[in-house]
Parts: sequence; C-alpha cells; structure tokens
Amino acid sequence: MNPILYIVVPCYNEKEVLPLTSEIFENKIKDLISCGKVSPQSQILFVNDGSRDTTWEIISDLCKKSNYMRGISLSRNRGHQNALLAGLMEAKSYADITISIDCDGQDDINAIDEMVDAYRGGAEIVYGVRADRKSDSFFKRTTAQGFYRFMNLLGSETVYNHADYRLLSTKVLNEFESFKEVNLFLRGLIPLVGFKSTCVYYERRARRAGESHYSFHKMLSLAFDGITSLSIKPIRIITALGVIVAILSFVGIIWSVVTALMGKTVAGWASVTCILCLLSGVQLVSLGVIGEYIGKIYLETKQRPRYIIAERTYKDED
Ligand code: UDP
Ligand code: MG
Repeated sequence: MNPILYIVVPCYNEKEVLPLTSEIFENKIKDLISCGKVSPQSQILFVNDGSRDTTWEIISDLCKKSNYMRGISLSRNRGHQNALLAGLMEAKSYADITISIDCDGQDDINAIDEMVDAYRGGAEIVYGVRADRKSDSFFKRTTAQGFYRFMNLLGSETVYNHADYRLLSTKVLNEFESFKEVNLFLRGLIPLVGFKSTCVYYERRARRAGESHYSFHKMLSLAFDGITSLSIKPIRIITALGVIVAILSFVGIIWSVVTALMGKTVAGWASVTCILCLLSGVQLVSLGVIGEYIGKIYLETKQRPRYIIAERTYKDED
C-alpha cells in the first residue's frame, strides 16, 4: 500500500507567492502519485495563519479548482510554529506521512522524493537539511549559523541547518500529540520524540516572491525561546556564576577586613563602585533569565489552546 502523503504548508500574508508555489506543490504531488510513490488520496494542506491579505481567498479558490488541495484557516495569527502544529495535527487523521514545508518555495521541492524513499526505507522522521546557504544574505547566514551553534552549546538538541522542512510519520505525530507545551519550538522538540530518523540534503533558494517574516528581532526571540523551552542550562550557568561571584566576594570581604584592621583604609571609592557595578549587573541578568523561565511556567500553566481552527475548505470527516 502506498502511503497517503499530506504536504502541510503554513501561509501568512503570502498572496504574492502562493499562486506560484501552489502549482509547484500540486505538480509534485501528481508526479509522486503517478510514479506510485504515494497514494492518490494524498493532499496539500494549506494553513492560513490569520493572514491580513487575500491569502485565505486564494487558498479557498485553489481548493475549489484542485482535487489535491485543502485548506484550514486559523482564527487569528498564531505564528509559524503554531500554524505548522495546527496543520500537522489536522493532517494526522487523514495521512500516513506528513511533510511540512514553507510556502515561499525556498526549500527544494525535489527533496520530497528522497524523503518518501527514506520513509519507505524505514525512517519515521526525515529532516530536510540545507546543504549550503548561498541564497541567504551574509547577515542571515551568519546569524542562523551562530544560532544553531549556540542552541546546541546550551543543550537543546537541534539538527544543524535544518529548519521546518521535514517528513513525519503518523506514528511520530501520535506520540507528539502528548507534548502539550505552548512554548513551541518544533525543531527542538521533534528529536525528543525519538524513533528512527535520517537526513536528506538540499539546496535552499531565494524566496520566490514576497518578503521574509523573520526579522532579526523575531529570529532572536525564536532563538531565545528555543533555548529556554528546551534546556535549563542557562539557569545552571547562572548558579555556577553565582558560586564563583560568591567565592570572589568572600575573598574580597576577608581582604577588606584585613586591610581595615591593618589601618590601611583609604577612600576606596573606585573598588567599591566596581564591585557594586559588577554584582548588580550579574544579578540583574540572572534575574532576567530566571524571570524568563518563570514566564514560561506561567504560560504553560494556563494550558490555553495553541490554535483555533475557524474554517476548513472541506467537511471535517471526509
Ligand atoms: N508564517 C506563518 N505565520 C507567521 C509567520 C510566517 O505561518 O506568523 C509562514 C510563512 O508564510 C512561511 C513560513 O511560515 O510559509 C516561513 O516564513 P518566512 O519565509 O517568512 O521565514 P524565513 O524563511 O525567512 O525564515
Ligand atoms: Mg522563507
């Protein structure tokens, strides 16, 4: 039996690029069906992430015209990771395998063939990994590279140069469903599910149209989220820092008492100020990091839904 494949595509304000890439996706799925790699019931599932432009109208239109396309629309913008999760959880009930891909055509669609082959070869997770980053700007390339290194250094297990282009089997998704966190960082969480996995390498192109939604600020916050959702190493580092500073302070206290007893105390303004500055700096940063974790706990305890599906282009059960 050929597996039913769902290609899950999150879309946010993508009216320029959607008409171009939807055709590419459709041709791909038709190819895969005709060469017998996937079942004819395979579909492309667009997730409209509360777009402000005509993206949802375009998706609805596309779905009317094609038998290989479906769409769901979230009640508001929830961000790339949540939109992806919504799509994956939706697809899980219909598909044997899902492949998530961005709708801007940056990721090489031909890697899908290899991903499906790898699945047929026994892998439950197939990571799409960028072989090079020539198409990205120097700035994006260096920040992204630094990001992966930093993440792994701080103890979150991410696959180097892998974004959110990956194949997941329904088996993996069923297990992943019980990962209930609202601080979603899929590429760090999926490796935690386990199962047999492998990588497929591809070249990443420039966006076909439109602009990236990941500004420097958004990337930084994704990196920070990734680290604080997956690892408590920063807290450990702070604790270690605290111990070191405490030892130094202890030595400092002895030193000042001894010098005071020896009657050598002069107006030690500079040293006092330096120590004060150092300690208050360390304390504030530490409080900030710990606060970040408390913030995360606060968000997790609410257990709010991660997404709400407002509309579908098809009936729920068919
Ligand atoms: N996206 C989304 N919700 C958002 C932002 C982005 O669903 O709030 C989608 C977007 O439509 C695209 C994918 O996530 O399909 C990746 O976004 P983008 O291409 O802007 O990021 P980059 O490739 O520059 O990292
Ligand atoms: Mg992109």
